[in-house]
Amino acid sequence: MPCLFCQIIAGEVPCYKVYEDNDWFAFLDINPVNLGHTLLLPKAHFRNLFDLPPDLLTKLGPTMQKLAIAIKNGTSADGLNVGWNNEPAAGQLVMHAHVHLIPRFTGDGFEHWHGKGGETKAEFERTQQAIKKTLI
Ligand code: AMP
Ligand code: ZN
Repeated sequence: MPCLFCQIIAGEVPCYKVYEDNDWFAFLDINPVNLGHTLLLPKAHFRNLFDLPPDLLTKLGPTMQKLAIAIKNGTSADGLNVGWNNEPAAGQLVMHAHVHLIPRFTGDGFEHWHGKGGETKAEFERTQQAIKKTLI
């Protein structure tokens, strides 16, 4: 199966493109949370955050900020969410890395995730140590 987002970048599948540079590409999400919901993705195919090379990630920050400001101003939004689903367990449906930039309007009704609650101090500490010891 060809990658849908690679096909969009190649111009083989239409999209509402809003941005392109040497490394990154952005178009409107076809099923937006709010109009202006944009996907920002590397032109080269990578699965998600876990396999993106550091040099591409370095360029992501300024590009994402530029796009976020343009989306907020262009849609007269009150705010904006950045979301990144990595792996199906986290809701990733298209296996080409992409960041969601979602303009938000006061009272638009979009809900954030809710914490489960009930975690113990020991669980927090164990988890803290588990994460810290795998960091290089
Ligand atoms: P994710 O769940 O993070 O993989 O998000 C995939 C996103 O791609 C969804 O929000 C879809 O609405 C969006 N999407 C799927 N197909 C297209 C398409 N042809 N053009 C624009 N957005 C798309
Ligand atoms: Zn791809």
